[in-house]
Amino acid sequence: MRIRKVAIVGAGTMGCSIAENIGEKGFTVFLVDRTDELVEDAKCRVELSLNKRLEKWGITEAEKRVTLSRIRFTSKLDDVTTCDLVIEAVQEDPDVKKKILSDLDKLCHPQTILASNTSTLSITELAAATLRPERVIGLHFLSPVTRVEVVEIVRGLKSSEETFEAVERFVKSLDKVGVEIHDSPGFVTTRLITPLLNQAMNALMEGVASASDIDTAIRLGFGLPRGPLEMADRMGLDTVLTSMEGLFRDLGDFSYRPCPLLRKLVRAGHLGVKTGQGFFKYDEEGNLIKEEENLVYQGAKG
Ligand code: NAD
Repeated sequence: MRIRKVAIVGAGTMGCSIAENIGEKGFTVFLVDRTDELVEDAKCRVELSLNKRLEKWGITEAEKRVTLSRIRFTSKLDDVTTCDLVIEAVQEDPDVKKKILSDLDKLCHPQTILASNTSTLSITELAAATLRPERVIGLHFLSPVTRVEVVEIVRGLKSSEETFEAVERFVKSLDKVGVEIHDSPGFVTTRLITPLLNQAMNALMEGVASASDIDTAIRLGFGLPRGPLEMADRMGLDTVLTSMEGLFRDLGDFSYRPCPLLRKLVRAGHLGVKTGQGFFKYDEEGNLIKEEENLVYQGAKG
């Protein structure tokens, strides 16, 4: 089976980034969210991301236009019924994801592959919400999708070989490396990165160093593009908290017990880049505002 037409359900941080990447690789892609307003926000977000890449000479004006022209922004789930692959990228809530997958199962062509971009949930369990578990698989893209080269391809217990191979070819056609994963909480990437994020937050809360010094130490010390606190801000602190709670529940390992400071920020509505503030402050285009870097540390002590 060859994947030509793709849809993404959930046009948040990940949905927009996945749509941008798939669109620029030449596929027609439907990007779905719940309301026309959310769809309009998604369009602005994709345009903003393309504009930033254009400003940095990463793409041309023509490439920006052609990518946008391949993305169909819509609030109607019915528009995706003829797609070869539908990727759900709604928030990390098993009930919401199961409902979407069950609806898609009823709406889509029997050959359509249903994929989940979940970071932590069981693909086997999500697949059980459908009558086509052999055509359900995990496709765990990482943020920002246009820059991260790896995708975890997660086999549920019943995912068929044909489904795996079709999705593996699709991942290759995006010029990405697919890593084969067997269903397990947090797969490899989330399972390994989450304790680092959590420990960075605990170190900040305990006053070991400022937010900026923690990030600088890890970024320069281990050659990473960003420190763990900025990484969490870019993932979305609500998403990080939900993932951590799930991993703590499933693995029972205290390295996943969410740092109280993370809970405090989420309760305050400071969700990271998407709200302009998390461990750091960000401008409207998502750039870090350097002079504000110790803001949360002061708040946590006070
Ligand atoms: P988000 O909260 O930014 O976006 C979720 C979107 O889904 C929202 O726009 C919401 O309106 C939409 N949605 C909810 N119900 C819907 C419905 N019934 N129909 C259509 N749209 C609906 O979430 P996110 O951070 O983009 O995460 C999405 C998924 O990707 C999660 O499973 C998360 O674990 C995973 N993930 C996130 C990251 C990250 O860095 N944020 C990285 C890898 C994987």
